[in-house]
Amino acid sequence: MTENHDSKDIGNHPQVAVGFLVDTGESREIQLRLQWLQDTICRDLERDFPEFSWSFRLILRRDFPRERPLDPLVLLEFGSELKIEYRLDFLLVLTSMPLMARFDQTVNGVPSNMLETGVVSLARPLENLEPERVDRAILALCRHVLGHLWGLDHDEQSVMRPRESWTGDEPLQWSAEEKEQIRTYLKDIADPRLEETGQAAATAWRFYGQVLRREWLSLARDIILFRSWRMVLHLGRFTAATAVSVIFLFLSAEAWELGAAIRSAWLDLILVAVLLLATLSIYFGQNLQEVGRADRMMEQAARSRIVLFGTLLVGMVSFWINLFLVSLGIIFLLPENVLAGWAGLAGQPLPMVHFSKLMATFGILASSLGGNLEEEHDLKAVLIYTEET
Ligand SMILES: [Zn+2]
Repeated sequence: MTENHDSKDIGNHPQVAVGFLVDTGESREIQLRLQWLQDTICRDLERDFPEFSWSFRLILRRDFPRERPLDPLVLLEFGSELKIEYRLDFLLVLTSMPLMARFDQTVNGVPSNMLETGVVSLARPLENLEPERVDRAILALCRHVLGHLWGLDHDEQSVMRPRESWTGDEPLQWSAEEKEQIRTYLKDIADPRLEETGQAAATAWRFYGQVLRREWLSLARDIILFRSWRMVLHLGRFTAATAVSVIFLFLSAEAWELGAAIRSAWLDLILVAVLLLATLSIYFGQNLQEVGRADRMMEQAARSRIVLFGTLLVGMVSFWINLFLVSLGIIFLLPENVLAGWAGLAGQPLPMVHFSKLMATFGILASSLGGNLEEEHDLKAVLIYTEET
């Protein structure tokens, strides 16, 4: 059951396709409100960004996930598969049900820049008693989520201001600079997708190679923008497993002996192998290869996977750098003659950088185990969510 709201004038403007995904089980009243919301967003976008040819599509689904509490991660994955299937550029999943919060107290919306999909729940704004405020609140919430999908960051002066609750308070609009940023971002996206150009490779490896060559700059931007070094802050077990194992390593003489026996060049090789293996083990251990799954080879699906893997890898590298700095600090503070004795280097100066590298590398090994201990797909959520708002 789908309806089409294709805009009439197609001309030479770059095309942007936005979908709205709704459960057929929503009540009549909610469906009317959602319809109003979509119409308003569509009209505003056509007015603010007339240089694009917008197409909007309302998708009503009977197989909308209904487990309670409603998990935004499940909705994002469900939505991103449909987004690829319907060949949309962006998709908003709209629901009247409350969402399950993972990292914050409450959650009204979850954008995922990586999947180009966002989830918006009207449950809390609807608790507001003044109908006018409800309308303003849900519109602002949708703009905030769309703004994240289009690469905007937080800003106190516009609708991109982070909020605890969405009550319809000002500011409700994007600033002039933000609109300019959105324009630049959308121009990139509106290029024809690789599979539409007729030059797409037939094998998966070559297809991924083509995507990397065409898009390396924007892929790198997405990976860096994600700030994966914050990843570990959300992952209790991951950091705990690492901390405990590093403490034990520091206290065992064998680790120091081993460190003295490994040559520096070997250690660098081991370090690269461990970082790659740890990333791969978390990637497959947490079933991240399921994200962005598509029947055919499609640029958007390949992009999501490359960004996901790249983000995880950058996250592990920055975690290693943190561990290295902490290890260096600890080695600096501990009495040098004791450590040199453990390492069997009596009388010689202790190579502090070498040992810090070793400890950090062992720590990453432990963290890959800890990463796979994370439950309820928290790690997946950390990687896929742009934020909870
Ligand atoms: Zn935000």
